[in-house]
Amino acid sequence: MHNAAFEHLKLDFVFLAFRVTSDELENAVRGACALGIRGLNVTMPHKNSVTEFLDEADPAVKFLGAANTILNQRGRLRGFNTDGVGALKALKNNGVDLAGKKVLLLGAGGAAKAIAFSLAKEVDELCILNRDAVKARDLASVLEPFGKKIVGNELSPKQFQQELQDSNVLINATFVGMTPYASDSLVKPDWLKPELTVMDIVYNPVETKLLRDARASGAKVINGVEMLLYQGAASFEIWTGCKAPVDVMRKAALKQISASEKN
Ligand code: NAD
Repeated sequence: MHNAAFEHLKLDFVFLAFRVTSDELENAVRGACALGIRGLNVTMPHKNSVTEFLDEADPAVKFLGAANTILNQRGRLRGFNTDGVGALKALKNNGVDLAGKKVLLLGAGGAAKAIAFSLAKEVDELCILNRDAVKARDLASVLEPFGKKIVGNELSPKQFQQELQDSNVLINATFVGMTPYASDSLVKPDWLKPELTVMDIVYNPVETKLLRDARASGAKVINGVEMLLYQGAASFEIWTGCKAPVDVMRKAALKQISASEKN
């Protein structure tokens, strides 16, 4: 999607993927900096450890201890985390007004944490449910100063149904539904309702079981490509200073993902 955007705007950039082992992470980052490479995207498992090599970090990186985007500004490495902003934009640009709303977030891993950090100040209530209840409660308590009402609890069917009743938005930020577990969903179809917006951040497959069930219940659905797109668009703007052509990027991302789904 980045290369499609560079081509569309006729920018002299190219986006390449490199496999980097943990042992070589520092060399890879310093090497990229020495080579004058404008920026990096960093993905699992290096999002946390890469922060050691940054000269500056944005507030999200400081809070999360994880970066997914680096800008090389004449040898100074600035770290950003665009995951949370990406999720927020995916909701807002798909017509979801978060003011006064309750969001139910499933998961307390890296992506969930980034989303929770961005949503905390936007919503009326945020409920985080996770298999490991301690992680959900810990995340809720560190976010407390940023939001109105933030609670964490165990992801049990009973708790889930209870919290879902007065929720406006449900977000799946767990691995459940991702290939090769594409036939799984944490939500029973009859728990879903038309008044709900359901966002799944899993993007492979694009239409998860959760989203199929949500669509059938009459709920509004937002797929994981939207978050992927907007976190990428935010990185693109950091590196290039140009407005990201999101329609071009969405088309390229969907084309690539549907090709990988066929293989
Ligand atoms: P992580 O390992 O940090 O967290 C995984 C979370 O899933 C944990 O909270 C864990 O408890 C939960 N989980 C796993 N299996 C579960 C199960 N069977 N039942 C209940 N909970 C379960 O991973 P992450 O980096 O947060 O990624 C999570 C998902 O989000 C992945 O599918 C990833 O591809 C996706 N993701 C999407 C985007 C995007 O832009 N759309 C960005 C980041 C991550």
